[in-house]
Amino acid sequence: TDSAAQSQALPVVQLRNVAKSYDGHHALTDVSLDVQRGEFLTILGPSGCGKTTILRLVAGFESATAGVISIDGKIVTDLPPERRNVNTVFQSYALFPHMNVFDNVAFGLRMKKRPAAEIAIEVRETLRLVQLEGFETRMVGKLSGGQQQRVAIARAIINRPLVLLLDEPLSALDYRLRKQMQLDLKHLQRKLGITFVLVTHDQEEAFSMSDRVVVMNNGHIEQIGTPVSVYEEPRNLYVARFVGEINIINAEVVELGEGRARVRAQGLDVFMRTSHAFHPGEKVHILLRPEDLRVETLKDLAEDPELEGVFSRDRFLVGTVEETIYKGATYDVVVRLDAGGIVTATEFFNEDDETVYFKASDRVAVSWVEGW
Ligand code: ATP
Repeated sequence: TDSAAQSQALPVVQLRNVAKSYDGHHALTDVSLDVQRGEFLTILGPSGCGKTTILRLVAGFESATAGVISIDGKIVTDLPPERRNVNTVFQSYALFPHMNVFDNVAFGLRMKKRPAAEIAIEVRETLRLVQLEGFETRMVGKLSGGQQQRVAIARAIINRPLVLLLDEPLSALDYRLRKQMQLDLKHLQRKLGITFVLVTHDQEEAFSMSDRVVVMNNGHIEQIGTPVSVYEEPRNLYVARFVGEINIINAEVVELGEGRARVRAQGLDVFMRTSHAFHPGEKVHILLRPEDLRVETLKDLAEDPELEGVFSRDRFLVGTVEETIYKGATYDVVVRLDAGGIVTATEFFNEDDETVYFKASDRVAVSWVEGW
């Protein structure tokens, strides 16, 4: 029906001009946010920016100083946690250490006085979802961190909340396990169709799991968008820096076109993609990801006509390699530009012998494909 379709389209969680202060300290200043039904949304930001505060307000553990919070179309701003169809997975897991896995996971259903046979079926099914079949009688205090995390998730999803809130759920796990759990969580979310709202300060984690990312700074939202859009089209320098490495080149706008600007940087006229409405003469920053930069030695450029193209017609900046930094799959070339400033370009190793092509004091040309 139309009304069913409408409720599907309605945001499942809505924050309208929400603020939160603790004794005059502003943890959140003015946060408005729509969480869509069934999405995996990640709140990303540095320590202390207010991520956890948003979760606690949605869960109902704290009350907002100002603003309105709705869940499933109903205003819940002043409702206690148990009257919101929301569960939370805490960073600390908050399991009952003296109980076994089964009893931890069954807890919520027992509180609801569901029949024992039904509970047994649902616990088994939920443990299967988090890949913990056969762990029913193990005491949670004797499980590994990763296994405890799965128990905490099982306990939180067993009564199928409308929204699952996850506060840095993977931060206690080692790198390899964290990578695995990121994939597992994403697959679990897809399978369940439950809306997940996750908090993290780890940009890679946010990117690998989320449909959309909310980038926060000092109590407010800087940008909301898909991982690709916040990475490729950051709204400002703060977002650009927080979601990855970035090179910044000072420039001045010469003229504007449709979605493009011609800018002058270090005596060079270049076209850049932009969605901002700049005016001619305005001082701007050109933002370039290290992987978008190309580096060639001036020597190779002079000797090899094949390198024309991106480097054609003197459309490059000249500098000297300061150092190279090993990154595992790639390496970074740090270049001091003759006209001032330092840029970092990501390069792959030589195919034949996996060596680094560039070395300190090489004279190089730096260019980039996009926007020329
Ligand atoms: P982290 O990643 O370190 O957990 P966060 O982004 O989740 O940080 P919050 O925990 O939301 O940040 O805290 C936001 C701000 O509010 C911080 O400055 C914090 O010190 C403050 N704050 C949070 N809880 C309280 C409280 N109960 N009493 C007083 N101040 C608080």
